[in-house]
This record gives sequence, structure tokens and C-alpha cells, in this order.
Amino acid sequence: MAVHRIAELSRTVLLKASPTFSARTFSSSKSHQSDGLNFEMSEVQRDLQQLGRKFSREEIAPNAAKYDVSMDFPMDIVKKMWEVGILNPLIPEKYGGPELGCLGMAILGEEIAWGCTGIMTASMTNALATSPVLVGGNDEQKKKYLGLLCSEPAIASYGVTEPGAGSDVGGLKTRAEKKGDEWVINGQKMWITGSGKASWFFVLARSDPNPKAPTGKAFTGFIVDADTPGITVGRKEINMGQRCSDTRGITFEDVRVPKQNVLGKEGIGFKIAMESFDKTRPIVAAGAVGLAQRALDESTKYALERKTFGTPIINHQAVAFMLADMAIGVELGRQLTLRAAWELDQGRKNTYYASIAKAFASEHAAKCAADAVQIFGGNGFNTEYPVEKLYRDSKILQIYEGTTQIQKMIIAREFVGRLKNSGM
Ligand SMILES: Cc1cc2nc3c(=O)[nH]c(=O)nc-3n(C[C@H](O)[C@H](O)[C@H](O)COP(=O)(O)OP(=O)(O)OC[C@H]3O[C@@H](n4cnc5c(N)ncnc54)[C@H](O)[C@@H]3O)c2cc1C
Repeated sequence: MAVHRIAELSRTVLLKASPTFSARTFSSSKSHQSDGLNFEMSEVQRDLQQLGRKFSREEIAPNAAKYDVSMDFPMDIVKKMWEVGILNPLIPEKYGGPELGCLGMAILGEEIAWGCTGIMTASMTNALATSPVLVGGNDEQKKKYLGLLCSEPAIASYGVTEPGAGSDVGGLKTRAEKKGDEWVINGQKMWITGSGKASWFFVLARSDPNPKAPTGKAFTGFIVDADTPGITVGRKEINMGQRCSDTRGITFEDVRVPKQNVLGKEGIGFKIAMESFDKTRPIVAAGAVGLAQRALDESTKYALERKTFGTPIINHQAVAFMLADMAIGVELGRQLTLRAAWELDQGRKNTYYASIAKAFASEHAAKCAADAVQIFGGNGFNTEYPVEKLYRDSKILQIYEGTTQIQKMIIAREFVGRLKNSGM
């Protein structure tokens, strides 16, 4: 059985790396620092890439179309990812995770996405949900909630967006009121990935009722157990692409949360929620690179086989140049993504690079998928061929975790800050 071989490989890879299988090993070995710029992966990084590639080729890609049609949550694959040890890459060893760091996660994420970005989103929702806990949680919270995800194949969700507030996070209306040793949450969330399967949610709620309170002080972040009375999870949304990923609304009616589940402290939830994206936007970018690479691989194969006017279509310069443009963007997107992840693993603020990587890679993935359909001609429009799914799946990459327009606002803001700091 394929999974047995993968588990074996995984064990070998993880054991070989132990006990220093960590973000430090991945991203900041001394030789890399002293050598200056270095585009070579370390042995451990290459092993991780191979592990992700093998898993994606053997377990994900062959099942992608099935889950796209059924729209079922890919629990069997999620379970295998957990068995192999790649379901929760960001969680530190101390809490039972592999502590791959952002760079390790990006390397892995590209491979998983090559197989199917729907399955990637379905499984990597854990990275998004755990990021606020990593950013603002205390040791007890980490032990309990990160430990839970490592001890069983469980899912967690990141609950920020609401029906009336997506890009404009400061406009969200879910309320949290302090009552004794508890907080009481009322409101509604929308588009929450994994929420129908989650054991717990990160929830951002307005804790200061004063509408004039600054955004940076008005919100508090909570860890909320999914089985808390008063929570109703809505129907599964039927989306254009990534259809096996579980997206739902959640209603909170007098949901009582113990004060121990406040992340950080009252009033700093917005900061925690936004800082989390520094960890996860490089992962979305990696997913976009994976999808773009898949579009390029499928299109090149097809262009070598399909003949028109007596020659394979790759010999028509118009087609070859489309492939070349796809390749240029894949390489650029990959470098930007790895840079964004690497910056974070160096302990530096990577917001600027994370937004550049997310904006560029997601736009390019959508373009690659559209061009792949074009190269396949009529076949590209048909579900018997793999590229129409890539086309549908690619669109959300430009929307979730901040739209391209929002990334550009962040990039401009960060760049202006850099310029001012430079003294120019
Ligand atoms: C499949 C899916 C999964 C998701 N998963 C999650 C999840 O797990 N957790 C979660 O919290 N959220 C999740 N989301 C929500 C997602 O992050 C939001 O949909 C996204 O941030 C955009 O918000 P919105 O839909 O409200 O669009 P809006 O904010 O209404 O934006 C509409 C359009 O206006 C543009 N726009 C808005 N403001 C500006 C501006 N100031 N300048 C220029 N243009 C602007 C946007 O770019 C967009 O084109 C998910 C969404 C989907 C569809």
C-alpha cells in the first residue's frame, strides 16, 4: 500500500532530521549565513520536498477529481497526512508537531498543491487556525489546542470573516462581552474553511462596544471549542472551485467562553489575527506556485502530443511562448514565496514580502490556469481533462487571506514605511 511506503519514507526523513528537525535547521544553518546568498536546498529540505512530492503524486493527485465531483471532505487523505506527520507543519516539537518553520511549510505546500489545491486548503486550514495561537497563545493554550491537533487527525478553523466584513476586518460585528470569568459571544461568521469538521475555532470579536475605539484595541481573539452550546454551523457552501474544502457560515448565540481562552489579552485580537497572515500568506503563495507548476506541466505534456497543421502544437511559437511565460512566473513566484517564508524564519517581519508573494503568485496561478485551458483548446473546457479544474481552483487564491487589491494596499503601505525609514 502506497501509504505504507510513504509512512516509511516519512519516518526515515523525520528520524534522519531528528532531533534538529526544526525551522532553524531548515532556514538558517550557519553555512548558509556565512556563504551569503544560496539557492541550494539543504538535504533535509530536499527530503521534505521529496516526501511532499511523493505523497502528492501517490495520494492526492489520483483522488483530486473524485473529491472535486463528490465535494466530500477528504478525511481519508487528511488522516494520512496526520499519520505521515505533515498535517500540522507549523506546530513546534514541544507541542507534538514537526516544527518545519514557514520555509519548510512553503516547500511542502507547493508539492501538496500540485496534487490538488482543494485538498491543500482542506488540510492546511490547520495552519491558518494555529497561527493566531502561535502568535498570541500562552503555553497552556498551546499545549491543549496545538497538542490536540497533533494527537489525532483533527481540524481547526480561523473565524474572522463575516457576511458584512471581509477585506474590512475592522468592520466586523460579532460581539464579545465579559461576564464574570467568562466571555459571551454573539454574531455570525462567513466563509470559514473547515468549520463543519473543526474541533475548535479561532474567533475574532469586537470586545469594545465603542464604535470609535481604534481597531488595534477594539477586538479580542478567542479559542472556542466547536461543541460549545450556542454554536450553529451552517450548510456547506457550493463553491466554484476547491470544492472538497469545507466552507460554511457559523452563528454564535450566547456562546460562553472561559477567560482562559482569550489569546494574549483583551483588545489585541486584531493584531494577532493580522500577524497570523505573515505565516500563512507565504503558504497560500506556495499553493499558487504548485497550481501554476501543475498547469505548466500538463500544458507542456499536451503541447508535445497534440498536433495541428502536421506538427505538435509546441512548435507553434504562440504556444511555446505561452509556456515560456508560464515558466517565468512559476520561477518568480517560487523565489518570492521562499523569500517571504525565509524572512519570517529569520525572525524578521515579513509582511511586505508575504503580500508580494501572495499577490504575484496567485495572479500568476490564475493566468497559468487560464492559459492552460487555452493550450488544451476544446479539451481544456472539458472535465475529462485536468486543466478546467485548475482554472476553477485558481480563482480563490486571488481572494482568500486578503484579495490582491488588499495585498497591494499592504505592499504600498509597507514600502512607504521602508522609504521613510531609509531617510530618503
Ligand atoms: C472559499 C473561501 C474560503 C475562505 N476561508 C476563510 C477562512 O477560513 N476564514 C476567514 O476568516 N475567512 C475566509 N474567507 C473569506 C475571505 O478571506 C474573504 O472573502 C476575502 O478576504 C474578501 O472579503 P469579502 O468576500 O468580504 O470581499 P469584500 O471585502 O467585499 O471585497 C469585494 C471586492 O472589493 C475589493 N476591495 C475591498 N476593499 C477594497 C479597498 N479598500 N481597495 C480596493 N479594493 C477593495 C476587494 O479586493 C474585492 O475585489 C474565505 C472565503 C472563501 C470564498
